[in-house]
Amino acid sequence: MITRLPSAECGIKIPQSAFRNPQLEGDFMKLDSDLYAYPWKSMQENNCNSYLIGGDMPLLIDPGHQHLVKNLINGMEKDGNRLEDIRLIIATHVHPDHFEAIQTFARAGVLTALHPEEEKFMQETGREFYGAFGMDMPEIKIDFYLQEGELKLGQKTLQIFFTPGHSPGSISLYWPEKKALFTGDVVFAMGVGRTDFPGGDGNLLRDSIERLARLDAEWLLSGHGEIIRGKKNIQRNFSNIGSNFLDY
Ligand SMILES: [Zn+2]
Repeated sequence: MITRLPSAECGIKIPQSAFRNPQLEGDFMKLDSDLYAYPWKSMQENNCNSYLIGGDMPLLIDPGHQHLVKNLINGMEKDGNRLEDIRLIIATHVHPDHFEAIQTFARAGVLTALHPEEEKFMQETGREFYGAFGMDMPEIKIDFYLQEGELKLGQKTLQIFFTPGHSPGSISLYWPEKKALFTGDVVFAMGVGRTDFPGGDGNLLRDSIERLARLDAEWLLSGHGEIIRGKKNIQRNFSNIGSNFLDY
């Protein structure tokens, strides 16, 4: 059975028991050296999962909603990751449940980055889109544009993938050293991003998912829901998605 989430939420979820991994339940934070997850688990309220890559250039991916940012900051502090240590914040896309709290980090001097298509979407549609949910769009300056390709951050190299469909400038990130794939709202454990928001496009989403499915990933770190660990489980997830969601 497919359950549609309330309107402000980004994903489509179906029961995930096939992928339940006891080791990844609970309030896990550190997944591996320099790889941290801050999963959102409340069923009462929607927010995104946030991820942090530590090291000499600490990077945060998707800070979530502004009114819930304290949870993220508290979780980070438990791991010794202080807000002021973060050097760069990357938004996979600008939907409020991923992007709104970027203002807290930008005000603290953290640099901000997203894809130029997503900034265009934000400039053209963002105010109205946020307004539709009763929110104000964050008034921040984007410091860097991220195009498809390599991103060198200190000692680390990430790969940026332009993966539109859920939002017109959505990006996914791949960290080859850990085989970690951060998908935002493109793909989830047993689900795909919705395409009925402004700028959504089902055909583009399918192409984006097919590209990500070809990567050699040991961690599927999506913007909502459960984390999947293990190449076999991730490939099984992509093939289930292919037959359940992408045959249209
Ligand atoms: Zn979204």
